[in-house]
Amino acid sequence: MAYGSSYTSANGNGRVSEFKLKEQMCDIGRRIWQKGFCAGNDGNHSYRIGENRILCTPTGISKGNLVPEDLCVVDMEGKQVSGKRKRTSEILLHLAIYKARPDVKAVIHSHPPHATAFAVAGVELPTCIHPEAEVFLGAVKTAKYVTPGDTRLGESILPYVKDSNTILLQSHGVVCFHPDLEQAYYQLEIVDAYARILLLAKQVGSIRPLDASEMKELLDLKVRFGLKEPRLDDGGKGLTCNTDFVSRVRAEVGGKGRMATPSGTAPVPKVGDASPLSKAIGAMVPNQYSEDDIEQLVQTITDQIMASV
Ligand SMILES: [Zn+2]
Repeated sequence: MAYGSSYTSANGNGRVSEFKLKEQMCDIGRRIWQKGFCAGNDGNHSYRIGENRILCTPTGISKGNLVPEDLCVVDMEGKQVSGKRKRTSEILLHLAIYKARPDVKAVIHSHPPHATAFAVAGVELPTCIHPEAEVFLGAVKTAKYVTPGDTRLGESILPYVKDSNTILLQSHGVVCFHPDLEQAYYQLEIVDAYARILLLAKQVGSIRPLDASEMKELLDLKVRFGLKEPRLDDGGKGLTCNTDFVSRVRAEVGGKGRMATPSGTAPVPKVGDASPLSKAIGAMVPNQYSEDDIEQLVQTITDQIMASV
């Protein structure tokens, strides 16, 4: 499990120059662009470098080509105080996070395709599936859709800001935040990798959720790392797993197993062609069940067996 060190290395007097921080912002922009997390001029990121001083990306420029001179400085109300380019129109989203979370020093907003696919589909990212996602992201919530750039974008995320570090923006993208710029970027990578793993696992055929004891062990480990886990605030009593996506996969896989042909769908195999498990179940269930019903039952039982091993 990779656990990166802080990117912001202090110089001899314990402080990092503003120019150095601007270079770090450009470096993060290049990595966001290289990973394909933003197309065209999409996305924006910011770094709180003082009580009332925030470094942010300008509007209308690819995050892959930023140079330090392109960056803007705004105050906590979003008023631009320096920089020759116009600040991002989505700075109000960043400011809402900085105001609600004084510990946060970096905010990255992007449209990584796999995580954004969940935001577009209106499907929450499931929990209790993948250790990296549990430890580094926790429960990722989806904020209600508002028009990008609108002042309400900041309000839409407020219900989730205190207890999370990564939020999906419905039909839009992702916002990640952290006391450290590099860590906020890692969260962006992790949330998109997690969404990609889920989509690939769906294609493979099924998803095995972590069980209660595996989750407890994992979250205890997370706390030992010194990471905040709001789901353990009441001793873990309120810990529930979001398995909506897992149910969707199960329902879809249950109806699969048929091959597309030029004339439609291949017929369901005859009982004689079925697996020993299908035949055994076929012999047990009453006649009124169709072969499709039996196929679904076989899949459900197989999933349960796989989940318990
Ligand atoms: Zn956006």
